[in-house]
Amino acid sequence: MTFERSFANFVQILSEEELTPEISPGALSDISKEYSLRSIVAVISFFKESDQAGEPDVVIPLFGPVQEKEAPDYLFKHNVAGKKTVTYNIYLYDGKSWNEEEYKSFAIVMDILIIHMERFLLEKAVKDSALTQYLTGLPNSGGFIAYATKLFESREIMGYDAFYFNLKSYGLISRRYGLSEGDEIMKRYAKKLKAFCDKGEMVAHFGGDNYTALIKKERTREFLDFLSSVPVYGIKNGKREELHIAAVIGVYAVDESLKEPGQLISRAGMALSYAKNVANKPYVFVNKAMSTRIYRQKQIEDRYEEALANDEFRIYLQPKVDLFTGELIGAESLVRWFCNGIVLYPAEFIPILEQEGMVATLDLYVLKKTCEFIKGWKENGIEPVPVSVNFSRRDLNFSHLAREIVRIIDETGIDRKWIQIEVTETANEDERLLMTNFLISLKEKGIDTAIDDFGTGYSSLSSLRDFPVNVIKIDRSFINNESVSENDEIVLKNIVRMAEELNIKVLTEGVEKPEQVDLLKSVGCHYAQGFLYDNPMPENDFQKRLIKRVYSE
Ligand code: C2E
Ligand code: MG
Ligand code: MG
Repeated sequence: MTFERSFANFVQILSEEELTPEISPGALSDISKEYSLRSIVAVISFFKESDQAGEPDVVIPLFGPVQEKEAPDYLFKHNVAGKKTVTYNIYLYDGKSWNEEEYKSFAIVMDILIIHMERFLLEKAVKDSALTQYLTGLPNSGGFIAYATKLFESREIMGYDAFYFNLKSYGLISRRYGLSEGDEIMKRYAKKLKAFCDKGEMVAHFGGDNYTALIKKERTREFLDFLSSVPVYGIKNGKREELHIAAVIGVYAVDESLKEPGQLISRAGMALSYAKNVANKPYVFVNKAMSTRIYRQKQIEDRYEEALANDEFRIYLQPKVDLFTGELIGAESLVRWFCNGIVLYPAEFIPILEQEGMVATLDLYVLKKTCEFIKGWKENGIEPVPVSVNFSRRDLNFSHLAREIVRIIDETGIDRKWIQIEVTETANEDERLLMTNFLISLKEKGIDTAIDDFGTGYSSLSSLRDFPVNVIKIDRSFINNESVSENDEIVLKNIVRMAEELNIKVLTEGVEKPEQVDLLKSVGCHYAQGFLYDNPMPENDFQKRLIKRVYSE
C-alpha cells in the first residue's frame, strides 16, 4: 500500500469518527505498520503565570499502549493559542527508528493529528467556558449542576451539604474600591474558597456575590466558620488594606428527600433568603416547615397561569350597606381560588403573586369579571350597585394601569360609575407618588376610588390629605376590640368628621355585631360591610340580594 493510500485512509477515518483525542487503531493501522509505530501520547502543558503554581500537565494517550516513564523515540511540539503546548510523544517498536525520509513524511501525518487535536481542544474550551464563571474561573451554575448531577447519580451526594451564600458587604466593597479593584477582591475571595475545598468538594460562582458549594458533611461546621471571616485584601490609593469578608449562608443538609440536583440550589437558596429576610442570622439550615412553605409557594407560582386560563379563580361579592336605611349600596369583589378541590383565600396567594410581580393580571381579571357581572344584571333587568375591585400596590409599577382599567370597563360597555377601585395606603415615598398619579388619572376618567384598610398604615392623615379618593374604608381593627375604648371612639368620630369636610365617604369594614352598628351610627359613619349583613357570596346569590335590596331587622 502506498503512503498516499494509507494516509488518505487515515484522514478519512479520522474525520468520520466522533471527536475524541484518541485515535482508533483502525485509523492508524496501515500507517502504524509502515512506520513501526507503537504508541502516541500527547502531553498538554500550560504556560505558567509567575505568581502561580500553574495547572498540572494533562496526559492524553492517543494511540497504543505506553509503559509508565518510558522515554519517547521522537517528539513533535505544537503551541496552542499562546496558552498551552501540546507535545506529541512517539514510541516505535523496540529497536526501530526512522530515516530522514520517514521522519519528514510522518510529519505530514502529525499535521493532521495536530488539527484533530486542536479541534478537540477548541470544543472542550467552549464547553468549559460554558461551565465556568468568567471572572473568578470557578464553576458557574452550569458547572455546579454538571458536578452535582454526577454526585447525585452515584448517590455520593448523601455525604454532602449544599450551601448558597452571599457576601455581607458586597455593595460596600464595590463602592469603596470601585469596579475593577472590586473584581480583583472577588478573585482573591474565590481563590480562598477554592483553597478551602478538599478533594471531591466544590465551590461555584453564579455571578455577582452569589456562591454555592458542596462540602462534605463532616466539614460543614468548619466551612461555616471559614465563611464567617475570609481574609483578603483590597488596594485603595496604592495602599493595601486587609479585609475580612463575611457571608450570609443558607445550608441544605442533603437528605433522602432530594429528588433532583436542582433542588440543591433551590433549597439552600431558600434557606439563604430566610437567613437574610426573616431570621437575620449569618446562616440558616433548611427545615421542614420552610420547605413545605416554599413548596406551596412554588406550586402557586407554577399553577397560576393555568389556573387563570381554567377559570379556577372565582369572584365572590360582599354587600355594602347603608347603616341608617339598611339599603344595599354596593359590593366588593373578593377573589377565591378553587384549586384541586380546595378553596384558597387571598391571604394565601396574593402576597406570593405580589412578590413575583404577577398580581396585576389577576386584578385586571377580577375587574373584567366584575364588569361582566354588572352587564349581566342590567341585561336581566336588575338595577346594579357600584362594585369595588382591589388593586395591589404592586400593580402601580405597571404603567398605563389606569388606562387599562378604563379600557376593560369601556369594552364591556357598562357605565364607569359602577366600578370603584380600592387601594391600600402606603408610607413609601415613591409609591405615594405613583399612587397619587394613579388616583388622579382615575378621577379624571370618572372612576371612583377608595382607600382600603384605612388607619392601619403609618400615613393615614397624609393619605387623607394627598389622595384624591371618594371613599375611605376604615379597617375592622378599629371596631373589633372586645370593648371599644373611649379613645377609639374619639379617633373614629374625628376621622369621620374630617372625611366629611373633605367630601369623602366613610365605610367601616368587618361589622359583625349590632353594638358596632350603634357605635358607628353614633359617630356619624354611614356605611358598613361585614358578616353581620353578609359574608362574601357567589354571584348568583348576590343577584338575589340585589333584587331584595334592603336589609330588614
Ligand atoms: P379587604 O379588601 O380589606 O377585604 C375585606 C376582607 O375582609 C375580605 O377577606 C372579607 O371576606 C373580610 N371580611 C368581610 N367582612 C368581615 C367581617 O365581618 N369579619 C371579618 N373578620 N372579616 C370580614 P378576604 O376575601 O379573605 O380578602 C382579604 C384581602 O385580600 C382583602 O382585604 C384584599 O386586600 C385582598 N384581596 C381580595 N381579593 C383581591 C383581589 O382580587 N386583588 C387584590 N389585589 N387583593 C385582593
Ligand atoms: Mg378591599
Ligand atoms: Mg379592607
